[in-house]
Amino acid sequence: MTPADDATPDGRSALHPDADPPAAVDLSPELADALGRAARTPTLVIACDYDGTLAPFVDDPTLAVPAPGAIDALDRLAGLPRTTVALLSGRNREALARVSGAVAPLVLVGSHGSEWEGGFDTPLDDDELARLDRVGSELSEIVSRTPGAHVEHKPTAAVLHVRPVEDPALRQRAMAEAMARPAALDGVFVTEGKNVVEIAVREASKGAAIERLVEQTGAEIAIFIGDDVTDERGFARLRDGDIGIKVGDGRTLATHRVADIPAVVGLLSRLAELRG
Ligand SMILES: [Mg+2]
Repeated sequence: MTPADDATPDGRSALHPDADPPAAVDLSPELADALGRAARTPTLVIACDYDGTLAPFVDDPTLAVPAPGAIDALDRLAGLPRTTVALLSGRNREALARVSGAVAPLVLVGSHGSEWEGGFDTPLDDDELARLDRVGSELSEIVSRTPGAHVEHKPTAAVLHVRPVEDPALRQRAMAEAMARPAALDGVFVTEGKNVVEIAVREASKGAAIERLVEQTGAEIAIFIGDDVTDERGFARLRDGDIGIKVGDGRTLATHRVADIPAVVGLLSRLAELRG
C-alpha cells in the first residue's frame, strides 16, 4: 500500500478541475484519528445513506439533490485503489440513481439494502417462497374483510396498507390481525409504520448490505454514515474497528457524530485527501 503522505494530488486535480477545495471541517480528535486509520487501511468500504446525509431534505423528494461537493468527494474516493463507495438508501434504486446523479464506480444500493445493480438479492429459496405465499394469503384474507385495505406484493415481502380504510376500528383490527398472525410467523422480518405493515421473508437492512459489501471486497474497515433511525441497523452491524458516523442529533449506536451534511462533505473530502 502507498502511505498517504507519499500521495501526489496532481492527477486528482486534473481529473476534477472543478472540484471545490476541501471544506475546512472541524473534526473531533477521535474522528480525525479514525479517518487516518481508514486512510491507511489496504481495503476500505465507505457506505453512505443519501437523504439527510448527503442531500438536504426538501418538500418534493424527487428534487433532493446532493449537497455541493458531496458526489465529487465520493467520486474521488471511489477512484482510489481498493476503495469501494456505496450509496445505501431506502429509496428504490432507480429513484436513487435519478435524484443523486451518481454513476459507477459508485455502487447504488436501494430499498434499504436489498436492491443491487443486478436486481433484488439472490432469489428466494423454496422455504422462503412458501412463507411469502402464506404471508400474502393471510394478508389477502384480512383485506377481504377490510374495505379500502390492500396488499402490495414485493419480491421479498408483502405489505398491508390500511390508510384508505375509512372506519378507524376496522383499520385497527386489520393491523392487529396482521401483527398477531402473519407478522408473528417464524422467519419473517416486520417493519410496522403508520397504517402500514411490511412483512418480509428476507431481511432487508442496511446492516446486511454493509456486510455484503465487506464480504465482496474483503475490506478491513467499513465506514457507514447515516442520519436516521433506519441507519441504526447499519451501525449495529459494524465490527470493532469499523467506523459509524451519525449525522445530527438523536440517540445512536454510532461511535462518532457530525453536526450536518456540510460536515459529511468535509469529512469525505478530508478522507479523499488523506487516502489519495
Ligand atoms: Mg437518511
